[in-house]
Amino acid sequence: MTTPQLHPHEPAAARAPSDGHRARQAIPRYYESLDFPALWDEFPTAPDYFDSTFRLQPSEIAAVQERRLLQQVERGWQIPFYQRHWGAAGLKPGDVRCLADLKEIPPFSVHDLRESIERNPPWGDFLGLDATRDAPVPLVLQTSGGTTGMPRAMLYTPRDREVMNIITGRRLYMQGVRPYDLVQVALSTGLTNGGFLAREGIWKYTGAVPVMTGSGAQTPTRRQVEIMKGWKIDFLVGFAPYLRNIGLVARDDMGIDPRSLGLRGLIAHLGLDDRESLEDLWGCGVYDTYGTNEFGSIAADCEHRSGMHVFEDAMHVEIVDPDTRAPRGPGEKGVMYVTSLFKHAAPMIRFNSNDISSWVDAAPCACGSHHRRISRLFGRADNMVKLRGTNIFPEAIGALVAEHAAVNGEYLCVLERDAETGRDDMRVRFELKSADAADAPAIERALAVRIKEALGVKLVLQAAAPGELSPLTGLSSTSKIRRLIDQRPAA
Ligand SMILES: [Zn+2]
Repeated sequence: MTTPQLHPHEPAAARAPSDGHRARQAIPRYYESLDFPALWDEFPTAPDYFDSTFRLQPSEIAAVQERRLLQQVERGWQIPFYQRHWGAAGLKPGDVRCLADLKEIPPFSVHDLRESIERNPPWGDFLGLDATRDAPVPLVLQTSGGTTGMPRAMLYTPRDREVMNIITGRRLYMQGVRPYDLVQVALSTGLTNGGFLAREGIWKYTGAVPVMTGSGAQTPTRRQVEIMKGWKIDFLVGFAPYLRNIGLVARDDMGIDPRSLGLRGLIAHLGLDDRESLEDLWGCGVYDTYGTNEFGSIAADCEHRSGMHVFEDAMHVEIVDPDTRAPRGPGEKGVMYVTSLFKHAAPMIRFNSNDISSWVDAAPCACGSHHRRISRLFGRADNMVKLRGTNIFPEAIGALVAEHAAVNGEYLCVLERDAETGRDDMRVRFELKSADAADAPAIERALAVRIKEALGVKLVLQAAAPGELSPLTGLSSTSKIRRLIDQRPAA
């Protein structure tokens, strides 16, 4: 089994800087590495997409998906990761003949990717790229937003990256972005994929101008507001908690009503954050998006904001029971398995995303599209905490806390174990809107009652001053915000 090598083995001497010249080698040019018009036929860009693929009937979309799935499976059999993973489950080449056979393929998760990386550092053996064999192509490297250990790297070929860009362009067009608009991107622009992917998609496929302010660590929050106001920004992109934070800083610290800034929309990763209060704060629509580092954007709200349409010509989504893998019906929560229908490097075939969502009913959306819609994200299956027999998601607690008028929506769940009794408890710390709230104990009591009534579990609530939790959650410094800290001793 070959290990993918992105640089061919060379004797150390040949790499020494003092060596001066290396052998002359052709450099792959990005714009020659793809037949762009053919790609745009295959994966139409906005606005053509909305008159073509987006209008297909379910049976027509299924036919496209089936054709592309079979290509992905064929590609999978060329890659050591899938040969090993599928082989171990008894799957053989030729076993997958139609879309319905997808359920025969064993799913995998980030745990399998991490194991692949441990076996074959630093990239794992799921890429299917080999510099000693394949013609060179210009590659992009970005990572997951992991907070522990090394970030998980993903490499994208020109075609993979370009399809992701096309989808970003479709998503923003669908949410109202038009040429010459200014789109402020408050996502970090480092190793993690979000910021750069937004920039590429906006720049290449919407005609709008990305304004890359990045995270709060890159452009301080007050400066984000000054830029928004000074340059008359049209749309703001970011994770919902940070978008809320920017709005509150503008309103409470700078005396600028966010509504007066005239934004036409917030393009958010909403998660379980409360849409209504965010729309109220900013005075514009909030458009939700779901995506991952491995896939780019998978689904997004259209103008009607009634569930996120899956970009079904490029992604196949299943929602299943996490234990039995049985498909879930509309309204039933389950874990999402996602399959890429376009990738060459690291195709993702039945990737268990660990994200919990549900289908919106099958009727076409008011926008006229049959592309299926996921409701929203309810949390991560691996973030789920079993506390005294009840499954709870920190994100669900956050949504309940944010309902209270005196709370600014910031929270952190801390899992603790009583050393004497061995009993596990969860302490929910939440920020007040104002530091001088005299009635903090009453707010704590009211929230404890609300959580007990909604989730059936008694938790300890603890108020904090505005901004106090930010160093613990990473709110103003990263895109990956921490909502759960497990302080129990390791088993
Ligand atoms: Zn729609």
